Amino acid sequence: MTTGKIGVSTKDLFPIIKKFLYSDHDIFLREIVSNAVDATQKLKVLASTGEIKEELGDLKIRVKADKEAGTLTVSDHGIGMTREEVEKYINQIAFSGAEEFLEKHKDDAATIIGHFGLGFYSAFMVSDKVEIVTKSYKEGAQAVKWTCSGDPEYTLDDIEKAERGTDIIMHLNADEKEFLEDNKVNELLNKYCKFLPVEIIFGKKKEWKDGKYVDTEEDNVINDINPAWTRKPSDLKEEDYLKFYHQLYPMAEDPLFHIHLNVDYPFNLTGILYFPKINNKFEIQKNKIQLYSNQVYVTDSVEGIVPEYLTLLHGVIDSPDIPLNVSRSYLQSDRNVKKISNHITKKVVDSLSDIFKNTREEYEKKWDDLKIFIQYGILTDEKFAERAKDIYLLKNTDGKYFTFEEYDNLIQANQTDKDKNIVCLYATDATEQYSYIEKAKAKGYDVLLMDGQLDTHFINHLEQKNSDHKYLRVDADVVEKLIPKEEARQSDLSEEEQNNLRPVFSSPLPKDNGMFLVSFEALGEDSDPVVVTRSEFMRRMKEMAALNP
Ligand code: ADP
Ligand code: MG
Repeated sequence: MTTGKIGVSTKDLFPIIKKFLYSDHDIFLREIVSNAVDATQKLKVLASTGEIKEELGDLKIRVKADKEAGTLTVSDHGIGMTREEVEKYINQIAFSGAEEFLEKHKDDAATIIGHFGLGFYSAFMVSDKVEIVTKSYKEGAQAVKWTCSGDPEYTLDDIEKAERGTDIIMHLNADEKEFLEDNKVNELLNKYCKFLPVEIIFGKKKEWKDGKYVDTEEDNVINDINPAWTRKPSDLKEEDYLKFYHQLYPMAEDPLFHIHLNVDYPFNLTGILYFPKINNKFEIQKNKIQLYSNQVYVTDSVEGIVPEYLTLLHGVIDSPDIPLNVSRSYLQSDRNVKKISNHITKKVVDSLSDIFKNTREEYEKKWDDLKIFIQYGILTDEKFAERAKDIYLLKNTDGKYFTFEEYDNLIQANQTDKDKNIVCLYATDATEQYSYIEKAKAKGYDVLLMDGQLDTHFINHLEQKNSDHKYLRVDADVVEKLIPKEEARQSDLSEEEQNNLRPVFSSPLPKDNGMFLVSFEALGEDSDPVVVTRSEFMRRMKEMAALNP
């Protein structure tokens, strides 16, 4: 038996680890399970390079909660550790075995999770005592048991262990007994370990029998070891993308589009992003994207990490370049994270451009749902705005779609004012403003439909961008001021008749809000004979006041 003291100034480190290492205690299970995954993956690497010749056998990782003993145990059949390795990798806090292994096996070990050598000690956030029972894969290795009670003292003994691999036995402290409950453990494993690349088993599958849940014979497998985003896009069908979407969000409607991210230079990034279908009266649900690092869940609160507009999307982003064990503020300032965010922006626009170019009809069909995302992107991200300007569609009141360029070509000749501005007319409600739309159309003008949630903001944005464009609401005092191609239709009433009628219609109008009578026109059967309008200026004032009470 050996007794000894754990490396450097661990006496001071322990309390820090316990309290502050992770703001979230839950994370210990992720760390311990991902070490088991690492150990298993290392074993596979060694087998693939011929360093291990025998059969690897069962490689599943098992998580067990023992309420009587008060222990939570994670067992693997990975490479295990020799006594020397325990002394080196466990006793020296912050000495990461993973880092060293990576250095040695640079090319084939890209999927090792650990980086900082602090993960294991997170077990002490919830445990009074932690035991490691481990046997190395190395020929003739002596199994050892390491025991530590959360102070720098530890013991290390030789023991008997039949199988290769490691058990991490956590004796939970009195405050953390919830981690012995099936529900809690299931919840954590499902959150952090759902897509880890080695099978993880927790108890048996349950079935409903005689009014309660009972165990079946079947293992309860937590994870999908080959989630869609880790596979090649060419191996996946539309159904696979849909299936994965529903794996992530069981209650959601089918999404509009997906984008498969797959980058290996200048950094590693995989993932699938979905444009969710949101119904008209939607509440913006942000932060549905899950961030992974080598299939280990990092966070689902991606604000500040991905561009603002992406927080509206759904899906998964996985990058080993996203550090696992650090705080949000660090993540937000991390250079890799910035690069990643920039890259995703480009990729999202590229994919949409492809869909737009190759299947414009499909794109137009989905545009009404897609529009809000693109607008949000354009409004909040200049880079995105620059890139997305060719795939933005304007929709007119006839339900036709135009790019900005196409629309300019359509209206330029006809819709200009005396200052040579291009005038885009728009309606915010096709039903309510029907007669105005008809009137404008009768004069040969086109009218855009701007009835979306962000349209008011978006119009302001467009006006700032294009100083030679004017966006004017069709029911304001504008149509008269345009210089029409053809002569406007004449009223059926004579000048004198019109003048006689004017006071009749003008006098009941409220004085303070810019309403006034424009004309008596004849535009056909179903058009209004009298048009009352309100000045564009007054309308905007009112609208702004309503927006910023
Ligand atoms: P990291 O995973 O970042 O290297 P950890 O503190 O999580 O740091 O683990 C420290 C080291 O302990 C690992 O690098 C590994 O060498 C060793 N280790 C931890 N758990 C296991 C395990 N289940 N099997 C084999 N080695 C392990
Ligand atoms: Mg680790």
